[in-house]
Amino acid sequence: MTVSPSAFIKGAGSLLAGLGVTIRAFFQPVVTSQYPRQLLNISPRFRSHTKLVADRDNPDKNACTACQICVKACPSGSIVSVDGEKREGEKRKTGTSYILDFTTCSQCGICVEVCPYDALDFSADFNLVGYKREDFHFDLVREFGKRKKTS
Ligand code: SF4
Ligand code: SF4
Repeated sequence: MTVSPSAFIKGAGSLLAGLGVTIRAFFQPVVTSQYPRQLLNISPRFRSHTKLVADRDNPDKNACTACQICVKACPSGSIVSVDGEKREGEKRKTGTSYILDFTTCSQCGICVEVCPYDALDFSADFNLVGYKREDFHFDLVREFGKRKKTS
């Protein structure tokens, strides 16, 4: 098989153009992250599952009062249940259990918006893994307690 001079020149030009891209990329700063050894910088606007935030007056407890407003407002029915108890000397209930089914949550943010106590926010938990749907059923009160212990 013979290669015509014009096809040869075209092929060589294409090869040099490709090499040029490779050489330029070689001298550019590295943009890949060595995950999981190196954690990613998550955008502040990133939304993972919701989380309970601390009470402004008492940072050791969550700000949820178990008023159920978010449960009624959730369009996906993802907030399975919220329970609370009134503790001695406190005017409002404190959330003792907040079960979120993250498999059906659309991260729409309605629950965060409607909460009259600003008790909800989005977590930045991006590396969730599980083998079954129940692995994505979270008790946000328990998660809040874990975060408190590690902070
Ligand atoms: S998170 Fe907010 S809206 Fe939902 S039950 Fe708790 S206090 Fe009420
Ligand atoms: S973010 Fe939207 S879908 Fe998810 S729990 Fe809140 S209201 Fe429901």
